[in-house]
Amino acid sequence: MSFDPQRDLDDNTSMWAETATFPEVLPPLSGEIQADVVIIGAGFTGISTAYHLIRRHPNLKVVILEARRVGNGASGRNGGMALNWINGVDAREPERTRRVFSFTRSGLDWIDEVIKEHGLNVRYRREGSLEAYTESQRAEEAHKKAEKLASWGIPVRYLTGTELEKRVRAEGVLGAVEDPTAGRLHGLDLLFGLLPVILKLGVSVYENSPVVRIQEGKIHEVTTTGGTVRAPTLVLATNGYTPRLGYFKHGLFPMFSHVVSTEPLPMERWRELGWGETAGFTDDMDRIAYGSMSSDGRLLFGGGGNLAYSYLYGSRTAWTHSAEAQYAFVQSILRKYFPAAKDVKIAHQWTGALGITMSRVCSMGVIGEHKNVLYAVGYSGHGVVLANLAGKVLCDFYSDHHDPWLTMPFYQRPLGGIPGEPLRWMGYKIFTAFTGRSPRKYEADR
Ligand SMILES: Cc1cc2nc3c(=O)[nH]c(=O)nc-3n(C[C@H](O)[C@H](O)[C@H](O)COP(=O)(O)OP(=O)(O)OC[C@H]3O[C@@H](n4cnc5c(N)ncnc54)[C@H](O)[C@@H]3O)c2cc1C
Repeated sequence: MSFDPQRDLDDNTSMWAETATFPEVLPPLSGEIQADVVIIGAGFTGISTAYHLIRRHPNLKVVILEARRVGNGASGRNGGMALNWINGVDAREPERTRRVFSFTRSGLDWIDEVIKEHGLNVRYRREGSLEAYTESQRAEEAHKKAEKLASWGIPVRYLTGTELEKRVRAEGVLGAVEDPTAGRLHGLDLLFGLLPVILKLGVSVYENSPVVRIQEGKIHEVTTTGGTVRAPTLVLATNGYTPRLGYFKHGLFPMFSHVVSTEPLPMERWRELGWGETAGFTDDMDRIAYGSMSSDGRLLFGGGGNLAYSYLYGSRTAWTHSAEAQYAFVQSILRKYFPAAKDVKIAHQWTGALGITMSRVCSMGVIGEHKNVLYAVGYSGHGVVLANLAGKVLCDFYSDHHDPWLTMPFYQRPLGGIPGEPLRWMGYKIFTAFTGRSPRKYEADR
């Protein structure tokens, strides 16, 4: 394993971090300690896992090791779109479609529930989100699919004309599928809200404690730059960073997404510029563009083409280059959709590492010789809801309660198919340059 905190952790700061109230820094791990469960990573997966574990098993000694601050990874750098559905899964059959939808819907609702139960101050809007279509055949297919899904009881609608314009007036968008149950989450608000809750329940969280060595066994030995935790259960909650820890090297592809956000503007002004009553939208391109709006009028925008998505040789997870060309490209896509917003100032720009799988379907399961390493990874850009749900799933795995999850597409889903270096890097460069797409293996659903 080759985790090097200097080279593997991004230094730029997201708009979420700029607009959050950070809690006091928690001290790093020092010396040797014992625990029942050691979790690596304090993003949505790590924090939700600790939350469920400690609520279900109040006497458990749960330790979280975080390389930097809580929410340092994708959970504090994303597009904020809290979406239904598991990326990479086709909606082919009604029963299964309803099951997947109701699973992710329960994740959206869970966020509301914890906010309410613990009185958290979290910026979370449930005003729906749009999947926007820019090409007539794709739009027609999306329309048919939305009608099919609606007939199966999934509450989506295809919008055009004035109904669409009320939500968004984006250049070239012909129609959009609206999911009224989706929304936009300030991820750091949620993490910083849940942190004192789990600390109070007895979870130990060590910040600035990068794990540099893992010795698996009946009792794992997890070593940071300052100390060691010995525990019979290890949880990998490191999503895109996981290959740097030596796991899923051929199953996970860390890809950078470049994001910008505007200065805050009054919502009346945004309505003139083209943004109306929706929390967010994604488009229909392979290298999707996505945008979401904060309640104080900051438009966040990311993606939109090859230049917005980058992979660094050797699965690096820190952006080491100047990203000016990438940010300029993202802004050009923002202005393509909202030309009237060309003079709106960009206030923040940042990158974050997504954890992508070849099929785009995430995987949650149990591995290791002693079946005591739990993991949930590979949300492929859909993790705001899924990673928050992972805590419940992993808590069930910990309690040997696998039944509810056996038929879910992510359950023990094998990850693989990504070649080693240097083929990976060359393949990525060549494939994306020629096709404008991201390499992907389409698989039969299971
Ligand atoms: C730019 C961007 C835009 C996105 N937009 C969306 C979106 O709009 N909607 C959506 O659903 N999803 C989106 N995603 C994906 C979503 O944010 C992630 O899937 C989700 O946050 C993953 O959460 P996690 O807790 O599993 O991982 P992370 O949040 O990445 O947390 C992993 C943690 O592990 C820590 N860590 C790594 N290595 C070590 C180590 N060696 N020792 C200790 N700690 C370590 C990291 O510092 C980090 O805090 C986006 C992601 C990015 C990057």
